[in-house]
Amino acid sequence: MARLEAARRRIEAAGGDPEAVRVVAVTKGFGPEAVVTAAASGLVDVGENYAQELTAKAAAVAPLTETTLRWHFLGALQRNKVRTLAPLVSLWQSVARPEEGIEIARRAPGAEVLVEVDTSGVAGRNGCTPGKTPGLVSELEGLGLAVRGLMTVGPQDPDAAAAAFRTVRSLADQLGLVERSMGMSDDMESAVAEGSTMVRLGRALFGDRPPRQPATER
Ligand SMILES: *Cc1c(COP(=O)(O)O)cnc(C)c1O
Repeated sequence: MARLEAARRRIEAAGGDPEAVRVVAVTKGFGPEAVVTAAASGLVDVGENYAQELTAKAAAVAPLTETTLRWHFLGALQRNKVRTLAPLVSLWQSVARPEEGIEIARRAPGAEVLVEVDTSGVAGRNGCTPGKTPGLVSELEGLGLAVRGLMTVGPQDPDAAAAAFRTVRSLADQLGLVERSMGMSDDMESAVAEGSTMVRLGRALFGDRPPRQPATER
């Protein structure tokens, strides 16, 4: 995939090791063929934001799901969706509240998780405040979950995004967490420069996203 090569060059130009920074292919809004394309280019990490879309797509590419893919859940998590997601999800990237952790620990004991950090403080954004993150991390560990690191969605403004990535990086360092899932199609350079270990790319790999489906179909 030429776009994957281009993305790897952008990672390298930003000072990242393209072998070490993991690319998660974000297929939300694209059809199952995007998953097939990603897998054919050697990507094994695939991310989705909506439970129903993840389960439908994982089923549509069932042989790949069973043998090759690692599905990542990236969206705001509703507790009643955890049970159906549990057999499919390899990394829960967006854990923001203890209740979600309790449900994940119940349905997928020992699962790998990231804590989503929201540095913006804007109402309605998913994520734990930086101040509450250390407490949430230890709560999740207490539930037997494997907390691998932190995830964040950067604000639109480039300076604010760089500051957010720096905050999350230093928080992860303080907590001894190795994974920093930071950076999307428009801000991956800044995220990589601030120490991302995992970028989540949709449009950079698959082009513009088709118009959204109605919420009921997710
Ligand atoms: C949609 C989304 C992405 C990918 O966004 P692009 O701009 O298409 O790269 C990454 N992470 C999260 C949490 C998302 O919701």
